[in-house]
Amino acid sequence: MSDFKSLKLLPEIMEAIEKVGYTTPTPIQAQAIPHLMEGKDLLGIAQTGTGKTAAFTLPILNKLGSNRVKARPARMRCLILTPTRELASQINQNIQDYGKKLNIKSTVIFGGVGQRPQVQAMSRGQDFLVATPGRLLDLMGQGHVLYDQLEVFVLDEADRMLDMGFFNDVKKIIAKLPKEKQTLLFSATMPKDIANLANSLLKNPVRVEITPEASTVEKIDQKINFVDKTNKPLLLESILKDKSIKTMLVFTRTKHGANRVVKHLDNFLIKSAAIHGNKSQGARERALEDFKNGKIRVLVATDIAARGIDVSNITHIINYDLPDDPKSYVHRIGRTARAGREGVAISFCDPNERGLLKDIEKTIKQAIPVDTEHAFHGVAAQPSRAPQTKGRPPKGSPQRASKPKSNDGKEAVTKKKKRPSQRARSR
Ligand code: AMP
Repeated sequence: MSDFKSLKLLPEIMEAIEKVGYTTPTPIQAQAIPHLMEGKDLLGIAQTGTGKTAAFTLPILNKLGSNRVKARPARMRCLILTPTRELASQINQNIQDYGKKLNIKSTVIFGGVGQRPQVQAMSRGQDFLVATPGRLLDLMGQGHVLYDQLEVFVLDEADRMLDMGFFNDVKKIIAKLPKEKQTLLFSATMPKDIANLANSLLKNPVRVEITPEASTVEKIDQKINFVDKTNKPLLLESILKDKSIKTMLVFTRTKHGANRVVKHLDNFLIKSAAIHGNKSQGARERALEDFKNGKIRVLVATDIAARGIDVSNITHIINYDLPDDPKSYVHRIGRTARAGREGVAISFCDPNERGLLKDIEKTIKQAIPVDTEHAFHGVAAQPSRAPQTKGRPPKGSPQRASKPKSNDGKEAVTKKKKRPSQRARSR
């Protein structure tokens, strides 16, 4: 694959790329950047983790940096719409990093914080505005945001906008944008509504499709740990005894569940933090910062809160609860193995979650290997399914007959602890 030099970006941008340590463009960057530098519209079918942020921010920076025009008050030259505030902050941070030497002005607008600083930033005019739809519409309504200098519009994670119920807001914003502009639309999937929007929004777009879902899933070392619900905290603690685990993202189904996991870990003297919708913006940012800096090893998140997290070196994903929607499984485990790295994803499955596991395996079209070696492998928690690993004794064999028949998980675990030799056999 080409290196960044062949992309002919401004020297100031090349310097920034060197500084962040990228040597080779990711596939989406190699495919999208040349077209974007020609000013073409783009339909990017790619999810987070592919390097898509740099794929659009670098050529836009190149465009704005090559033709310096001052944005008047309330105006911006490029608008980037994203579904979450975390993602908005991260994109803004990337723009500031890549555009430092170009003296690029970039700001964010999102809800959950006071609007005054955002209004003030807009009153100075900006090169980039990265925004979430709700607050942006508010500020547009108050006359603080105007689009008559807009040159480039990026709609990021369009399918998540739809999932999160922001689609009408997005359409209202699009209706106010000038017709003449370069437009980029990114989406991991192409449901009908997004395809229709892309048709009406993009002019002769270049289509770049990067489908990491299957390959990402393949690169991740996935495991199922059957465990009784009550033993989940202990199982998590036992996994965390492995000190080589430096960054772990734990997913829970609910906000309360996330808080409970943090409490459990606290009891085990393991530092962690939760991020979810009930946490203030400041608390979420602090948690992310502490996680990035290595002050805490474990971040506990709900699906929605985790969407915008851009931490590139997460090595372990724990599905403490299995997600209701099997697609979330792919999104969750995709938080590791980013930008070509490898990762481990361990899913806890209690007896009530068996149906969810089946749905996930159907979706990813593979059976996830079961780890029977963990300390809380409850026989009661294990569904009767075809084994995926070695050494299961044949039906009717003495070993199979001696397996605890109890349907009570705790009892099975207790028996197991007394007879560790049974572990290997009890799949
Ligand atoms: P994104 O898909 O934009 O969320 O990017 C995923 C991760 O890949 C981020 O942590 C980026 O910093 C990183 N990244 C982006 N481009 C490159 C590159 N060319 N080489 C190495 N890492 C990259």
